[in-house]
Amino acid sequence: MTEQDLAGRRAIVTGGASGIGLACVREFASRGAHVVVADIGGDAAEAVAAEVGGQAWVVDLSDTAAQQGLSLDADILVNNAGIQTVAPIPEFDVERFRFMQRLMVESPFLLIRAVLPGMYERGWGRVINISSAHGLRASAFKVAYVTAKHALEGLSKVTALEGGPHGVTSNCINPAYVRTPLVEKQIADQAKVHGIPESDVVEKIMLTETAIKRLVEADEVASLAGWLASERAGMVTGASYTIDGGWTAR
Ligand code: NAD
Repeated sequence: MTEQDLAGRRAIVTGGASGIGLACVREFASRGAHVVVADIGGDAAEAVAAEVGGQAWVVDLSDTAAQQGLSLDADILVNNAGIQTVAPIPEFDVERFRFMQRLMVESPFLLIRAVLPGMYERGWGRVINISSAHGLRASAFKVAYVTAKHALEGLSKVTALEGGPHGVTSNCINPAYVRTPLVEKQIADQAKVHGIPESDVVEKIMLTETAIKRLVEADEVASLAGWLASERAGMVTGASYTIDGGWTAR
């Protein structure tokens, strides 16, 4: 049986109904945490919450006005919900850019703001931000995503500095391409913008920079998130952990 080291802990995972978020929900729940699955996909969130004996929070996290003044009770917050859009800057839809900053920067800020007072009161907390190799490196045609992930790195580090004296850690996880619905949706867009067949996208675009030529699996990311949530990671804060097959070693 898996060690129940997170028993009694309450975790909120945004975008918890799919991909990396879903893998994190399962990781935390299997270790005894009560998990809140925060996702815009209502049916999927309910199904995942039922599977792990947790709770669904059906929410559109791009609606940041609704998150102002929010107060949340959680020991672990995983800021994971995110989307991708691939287009050159001159053609990049301005409203889409703003939308992505709201979902991937403003909402994580508001959620951190909502959980910190409770974490400070209890003297313990874990903020885990699912950034990306694109939080550390740029790629053409991903202006909103790369901008948002670089901002998330800054948010995570400031949270680490302020949270440290209160027993709260904050870290980023920086994966290369992970096998999830988000990446599957991106293959057609990448083929179009690079002018290559869809069948070439994984090898010629997604794996060009990595030393290990395969996609990351969602449960590999979740196991790192699980370790960051553990007692053993108590001195790890303000860090950005790559899980990128060597991409950023270049
Ligand atoms: P995914 O598409 O499989 O899952 C994303 C989840 O977020 C979905 O359940 C979706 O419903 C939810 N979501 C989207 N918009 C939302 C909104 N407005 N409000 C609430 N929930 C919303 O994606 P994934 O690949 O698991 O990506 C998760 C995170 O990991 C993202 O932040 C992404 O940038 C990051 N990431 C992914 C990869 C990758 O290759 N897949 C690599 C590096 C980083």
